[in-house]
Amino acid sequence: MAAQATYEFKAEIKQLLEILVHSLYTEHEIFLRELVSNASDALDKLRIEAADKDTGDDAPLEIRVQTDKDKKTLTVADNGIGMTETELVENIGTIAHSGSASFLKALKEAGGNNADGIIGRFGVGFYSVYMVADSVRILSRSHREGSAPVEWTSDGQGSYAIRELAGDEAAAVPRGTHIEVHLKDEFVTEFTDPEELKRVVHKHSNFIGFPILVNGERANTVPALWREPKFQITKEQYKEFYSFLTYDKEEPMDVLHTSVDAPVQFSSLCFIPQKSKDFMGFDHEDWGLDLYVRRVLIQRQNKNLIPQYLMFVRGVVDTEDLPLNISRETLQDNLLIRKISTTLTKQLLGQLTKMAEDKDKYAKFWREHSRVFKAGYMDFANRETFAGLLRFNSSACDDAEGLVSLEEYISRAKPDQKKIYFAFGPSREALKLNPHLEIFRKKGVEVLYLFEPIDEFVMDALHTHKDFELVPAEVAKPEDLDKLPDVEAAPEEAAAPAPEKDAMTALLVRVKAVLGDAVADVRASSRLTGSPCCLVNPDGHTTSSMDKIMRAMNHDNSVPKKVLELNPTHALVRNLVDLNKADANDAFVEQAARQLFESALLLEGYLPDPHALVGRVQELLTKSSGWYAKSK
Ligand code: ADP
Repeated sequence: MAAQATYEFKAEIKQLLEILVHSLYTEHEIFLRELVSNASDALDKLRIEAADKDTGDDAPLEIRVQTDKDKKTLTVADNGIGMTETELVENIGTIAHSGSASFLKALKEAGGNNADGIIGRFGVGFYSVYMVADSVRILSRSHREGSAPVEWTSDGQGSYAIRELAGDEAAAVPRGTHIEVHLKDEFVTEFTDPEELKRVVHKHSNFIGFPILVNGERANTVPALWREPKFQITKEQYKEFYSFLTYDKEEPMDVLHTSVDAPVQFSSLCFIPQKSKDFMGFDHEDWGLDLYVRRVLIQRQNKNLIPQYLMFVRGVVDTEDLPLNISRETLQDNLLIRKISTTLTKQLLGQLTKMAEDKDKYAKFWREHSRVFKAGYMDFANRETFAGLLRFNSSACDDAEGLVSLEEYISRAKPDQKKIYFAFGPSREALKLNPHLEIFRKKGVEVLYLFEPIDEFVMDALHTHKDFELVPAEVAKPEDLDKLPDVEAAPEEAAAPAPEKDAMTALLVRVKAVLGDAVADVRASSRLTGSPCCLVNPDGHTTSSMDKIMRAMNHDNSVPKKVLELNPTHALVRNLVDLNKADANDAFVEQAARQLFESALLLEGYLPDPHALVGRVQELLTKSSGWYAKSK
C-alpha cells in the first residue's frame, strides 16, 4: 500500500468549515447542488479537453447519486476529468476557487454577520458537504493517461489524508471522481431517501446538461429550456431555470427568450435580475452568458456575447453555427459571436424599451441597474435607443425619486427651445442653490439633474438628441433664455434698477485689479437673479464638474482660472458700486471682492484654503454686530 500523507487545511478553509458547520442555515440540501455542480463541471471539462482524444471508454457521461441507508452514506460519482494527487491537494486543499472565495468575501463585507442569509446565494463549494457529513471520502482518477487513483479522506475537523491506490484497490476505481459522504445521524433518513434526493435534484440541478441518476433513476428532466418552444414554457419553469443559473430565489425582473435565424442562427434565454450585483467589488468577473453549441455547453460566462454595460443580464445562448470543438482562443475574436452579440444587444435594448412603457417597473430597473447601464454611452451603434432609455431626475420632479426621459423633457420644452439643459451636483438641494440655475427657474425652463460623474460623460458623448442640443446649464447662453417670458417674480433685491453703466464698469475694473491673476475676467452677469455672483468657464463650454474630473485624472491640484460674473441687480453689488464711486480705494470693496470670489470658489468645490475666508467672515460679523447693536 502506498504511503498516506496527512495535511492541515489552510486557515481560511478552517474558517469556512467553522461557519458552515455552525450556521443556522436550514437548507442543508444545497450541499448536493454543490457536489452535482462540481461533477457536471468535471464532465464538461473532460468533454472539452478530451474532445479529440480517446477517453478510454464509450460510457455515457453522467452523474450517479447512490444511497446506502445501512452504511449511512450517500455517494456522488461522475466519470469526468478526475483529479491527480497534486490536483486534489491544490483544489480541495486551498480556497482560491470561485464559489467559496466569493462567499467568504461577501461574508466579510457583511461584517461577518448573516452567514445564514448569504450561504444559499453562493456556490459555497465542496465544503458545504460538512453541513451534513461527519466524514467524506473521495476517490478520484484523472483522465490523464497512466494516472494512479487517489483516496482523500477527512472528517472536516482540520486535516485531511491522501494516499495513492495500487493493485486491486486501484483497479476498482474508474476514471472520474467518486465522493462518498458519511452522513451525520440526524441527516441519514433525509438524505438516503431516494424520493427526497430526486426532489432536491429537481429543485436545484434540473438543468444540468448531463443525466443525473438517483439510485439508477433519472432525476433531472429539462436539459435545454431555451430550445423548447416558447408557448410550452410556464412562468414557473423560467423561474426555475433562472434560479438554477443564478442561485437567486426571487423571480427575474424580466425574461427575454428568442430564437433568431438571420443573420446568424441562435436561441437565447436571458434574464434581468431584480437586484443588481456589486460588479465593481468582488464580483467584477462574474458576468457573461453561457455559450452552448447544439445544447452542449462550450463556455460559461462568455463575455463577448453581450457588451459590458448589459453585464447585469444573465442567461444562455445556443447556436448551431459554431463547431463543437471550437477553442476558447478562437471564441474571443469570432465573427459569428460578434454577430450574435450585435443582434442580441438590439433585442435586449428593445426589451428594455418595451419595459419602459411600464413606468413603475422601469423605475425599479433604473434604480438597480442604471449605474452599469449608463456605460452604454459608448455604444454608438445603438445611440438613439440607448438615449431613449436614459432617465434623469430634474427640476420638474417633485422629489429625488422622480425620473424623466429625454422625450418627456422635449415634450415640455418651451416653443423655440432647441436645447436640453442639464446640471451636475451632489444633490437636489445643492442644485436648487446653484446660482447658475437661477435664470432657469425664472424662465420656467426645466433642467435635468445629474448626480453621478458618469452622467456627464453620457451627455458629452450624446451631444444631441433628436434635434435638441444637450447643453450644461452652467454654460448656457443667457441670450437664449432672456427672450423667454419670466414665470417667477424676481427676488426683491433684483427688482431695483441696475446701477449706471460707468459706475458698474468701474467696479468691475476694481474687482479685477483686486483679484488679479486669480480670475480670467470680471464681468456683469445676466444669468443671475438671487445670487450676487458666480464663476463661469472662460471657454464657455467646459462645466466645472467635468473640469474637476479632468484635473483629477491629470493629478492637477491647481485652481482653474475662471470668469467672475457679478449680478448688477443684487443689493450687495449695487452697494459696492456706490461705495466704489464714493471712494475708489475703499477697503471694504476690496474685502467684499475677495469674499465674493472665495465663496464662489467654495461653492464650486475649488477653494484650497478656507482660512482667509473664515477670518474675513468673522471680521465682518464682528463689525456688523457692532452696527446692529448700536442700531437697536
Ligand atoms: P468551486 O467549485 O467553486 O471551484 P469547490 O470547493 O466546490 O469550489 O471545488 C474546488 C475545485 O475542486 C473545483 O474547482 C475543481 O477543480 C475540483 N473538483 C471538485 N469536485 C470535482 C469533481 N467531481 N471532479 C473533478 N474536480 C473536482
